[in-house]
Amino acid sequence: MIPLDEAQEFVLGHCKPLPPRALPLDAALGCVVSTDVTATEPVPSFANSSMDGYAVRAHDTLGAPVRLQVVGSVMAGHVLEGQVGPGQAVRIMTGAPVPAGADAVCMVEQTEVDSDGGHVTILQHLQPGDFVRPPGRDVAVGAVVAPAGTVLSPAYLGVLAGQGMAEVLAHPRPRVGVLSTGDELYSGPGPLPPGTIRDANRATLLGLARREGWDCVDLGIVGDQESALVEVIMRGAETCDAILTSGGVSVGDLDLVKVVLERLSSGTMRWMQVAIRPAKPFAFGILAGSGTPVFGLPGNPVSAMVSFELFVRPALRTFGGHRALHRPVVRARAAHGLPRQSDGKLHLLRGHVTVDRQGAWWVSTTDGQESHQLRSMAEANALILLPDGTGAPADALVDVLLLDADNLGSPGGGPLMVSSEST
Ligand code: AMP
Ligand code: MG
Repeated sequence: MIPLDEAQEFVLGHCKPLPPRALPLDAALGCVVSTDVTATEPVPSFANSSMDGYAVRAHDTLGAPVRLQVVGSVMAGHVLEGQVGPGQAVRIMTGAPVPAGADAVCMVEQTEVDSDGGHVTILQHLQPGDFVRPPGRDVAVGAVVAPAGTVLSPAYLGVLAGQGMAEVLAHPRPRVGVLSTGDELYSGPGPLPPGTIRDANRATLLGLARREGWDCVDLGIVGDQESALVEVIMRGAETCDAILTSGGVSVGDLDLVKVVLERLSSGTMRWMQVAIRPAKPFAFGILAGSGTPVFGLPGNPVSAMVSFELFVRPALRTFGGHRALHRPVVRARAAHGLPRQSDGKLHLLRGHVTVDRQGAWWVSTTDGQESHQLRSMAEANALILLPDGTGAPADALVDVLLLDADNLGSPGGGPLMVSSEST
C-alpha cells in the first residue's frame, strides 16, 4: 500500500493547466483568469447620486432647515444641462449624474417639498460629497480587478462586464469522458436479469463532474472485454481532456481496466493500492499518443466517489488553472464514538456535519459504511478523516473533509442566524 499523499502527488505531477483562451464572459463562470485583468474604465464613470432626493450645494445647507428653489430634475440615464446655483436644488434619482454646481444630495426623506414643487426645504446640514458616488470609487483606472488565478464568480463577471469586456483570458473548463465497466451492468428495459445490477457510477461521476462545471461526455457502459475497453477509451481520448472509468481495477479475474491501461499507456500506468478505506484500488495512466490521463476508479459506488474527490477533482482543478485544489478540512466534534481497528489505512467515513447555535461544528456518521452503500453517501455532507489507530471517542475533535458546505445543519436549513453580540 502507498500513502494517500504519495498517490495524490503522483497524479498531480502529471497535470498542468490547459492553455488559456479568450472565453466569452457568459461561458466563463467558475473558470480561472490566466492573466491579470486591469481596469480601463473608472466605475462609476461619473459622479452620481446614491439616493433619490435633491442635488444641492452643501454650503447652502449650513443653517438647515433651508428653503431652496427647485430648478429642474434629472433621472438615471439622462444629463441635466445647466447648473445648480446658490439657493437652488435639482430633484435627482438614484444613479443620475450630479448636475454641475451641486456637490451633495439630500435624501428625499430629509426634505419637504412645496405643493407646487417649486421649492424644497432641506432639513439636514450636508457635507460636500454626501450621498454622491464619485467616479472611480468602486474601480479606479489601472486597478487590477481580477488577478491571474481569480476564480470567476458571478460578482467577478459583473466587475468585468462593468469594464465593457465581452471576453476574458482564462483556462477553459476541462472536458471529461465517463464510462462504466462491468459485464454485470444492465441498462436495458424492464426488470433486472438475474445477476445483473444497474449502473450507479455513471450518474454519480457525471454529476460530480458537472457540479464542478466541467464539460462531460457520457461514454456509456462497456463490458469486461479488452477490445471494447480499448475502443471506447481511444474514442473518448479524441475529444476529452481526461477519461474516468469505474470498475475493473481490483484483483478480480476480469479486472481488465488496469490491463488495458497498461497497454494503452505504453507501460507507464500505475496501479496503486492506496492506504485508504474505501477506495483502495486505483489506476492512473497517460495514454501514449494523445497524452490523455485516464483515471481508473474502483467499481464500488462509494469508492468511486471517494476516489473522485481525492484524485480526479484536484487533478482536473489543476487543468482548469485552479490554485486551491482540495476541499476544506475543518475540525468538528464527534457526536458519538468513532471506533475503528488499526489496518494501516486512513479511513474516510461518510458523515453529516451540523453547526450548532454556538457555532460549534459537530459530526456524526451516516448509516452504513460499506463501500457499496451509496445511500449513506447521499446523506453525507462530509468525509470524516480517521487516521490509522483505534478511532476517536465521543466529543473528540476530528478532521472532516467538507463535501457540501451549502447543506450544513438540519435538513431543510433554517432562517439566517446572526449573533446579536460578538465575543
Ligand atoms: P469491480 O472493481 O469491477 O470488481 O467492481 C467492484 C464492485 O462494484 C462490484 O460489486 C461491482 O458490481 C460494483 N460496480 C462496478 N461498477 C458499478 C457501477 N457502475 N454501478 C454500480 N456498481 C458497480
Ligand atoms: Mg468489474
